[in-house]
Amino acid sequence: EPPQVQPQVQPSGHPPFDVNAVRRDFPILQERVNGKQLIWFDNAATTHKPQAVIDRLAYFYAHENSNIHRAAHELAARATDAYEGARKKVAKFIGASSVEEVIFVRGATEAINLVAKTWGVQNVGAGDEIVVSNLEHHANIVPWQQLAAQVGAKIRVIPVDDSGQILLEEYRKLLNDRTKLVAITQVSNALGTITPVREIVALAHSVGAKALVDGAQSVSHMRVDVQALDADFFVFSGHKVFAPTGIGVVYGKRDILEKMQPWQGGGNMIADVTFERTIYQPPPNRFEAGTGNIADAVGLGAAIDYVERIGLENIARYEHDLLAYATHALKPVPGVRLIGTAADKASVLSFVLAGYRTEEVGEALNREGIAVRSGHHCAQPILRRFGLEATVRPSLAFYNTCAEVDALVSVVRRLSSNRA
Ligand code: PLP
Repeated sequence: EPPQVQPQVQPSGHPPFDVNAVRRDFPILQERVNGKQLIWFDNAATTHKPQAVIDRLAYFYAHENSNIHRAAHELAARATDAYEGARKKVAKFIGASSVEEVIFVRGATEAINLVAKTWGVQNVGAGDEIVVSNLEHHANIVPWQQLAAQVGAKIRVIPVDDSGQILLEEYRKLLNDRTKLVAITQVSNALGTITPVREIVALAHSVGAKALVDGAQSVSHMRVDVQALDADFFVFSGHKVFAPTGIGVVYGKRDILEKMQPWQGGGNMIADVTFERTIYQPPPNRFEAGTGNIADAVGLGAAIDYVERIGLENIARYEHDLLAYATHALKPVPGVRLIGTAADKASVLSFVLAGYRTEEVGEALNREGIAVRSGHHCAQPILRRFGLEATVRPSLAFYNTCAEVDALVSVVRRLSSNRA
């Protein structure tokens, strides 16, 4: 079937990006679903793994597997080197000033909970305020609500405009000397909005508050530099950046981490234990009690090597053009309402189709082997801001193509023309 749309999109003039070469690195893209070659447009939920990451995991278990730090033998040394090597890669990837600022956790959710239950409990008190935006994923709302309930603090919410971009002027009005923390996403998982985090962090600092940036949806789409952002905390999940599940990161400024109490106690995080008292390790080990996801951390290191080889700048430019192509193709389909039309966006196209429930659109796409998420995307407040409980959400990665976008749009067009 020939492509049904030929949108006029100005390319950004970047050097050609060899998407077919990239696609060969991802074995799952050859998978067949309902007799069709898989088209994966659910990248905001999780991303696929290049062969380099799969091989790195297998190599770890075949040649390096051991617990880390504790035992003085060859494999313990190999496992520790691999794990600490991954920490170095993460630190460089996000622009941290030292490896001591990188804590391994299970993912962005655990990362935010760690900050809420350690720094939050120590630094937020009765009558204090925590600012979040209307765009946040539930993972960047619920832990702050729990903290607020525990200590008697208040949650304040930055509103967004009709394009889904946050209103900086309204944000300014929310800030005051009771504001202790601003927790903000860099890219919205439900709409794709890229928020002006640098300004948001600077304004938080102007009233003496700290800022946590949720990078779950940003690190796979753009170059991140935590020092340029001046973020006090930055969190992300490995599985959304082509790494295994079960591994994620809390970045925290060193002077802040040094003052934070641990949240879980046990092995690995201690310097000395008697029955009377425990002396903790310095960060980051203080926050890594017990045996972590060693192999998955090593896999995250391999995923970072992989995206760095392609180049975040190349990825961002290619995806920018692909998102523009997809937006131009989908927007004119009769009955389609795009949700989230901010000028700065990454990866996500959220929409509803008149006459269809979002699950029906998702099912029709799935019958053609096309995977999208339909639902509330763990971000109910922002969908309700637009009067909705659910959207259909194709989300792009650098291994997606214009031909795949055409396949998606042709299904939506067919549904649209079959409307009652
Ligand atoms: N924050 C944002 C913006 C997200 O999109 C997600 C996942 O969808 C999370 C946090 C939570 O990530 P995880 O489920 O990997 O912990």
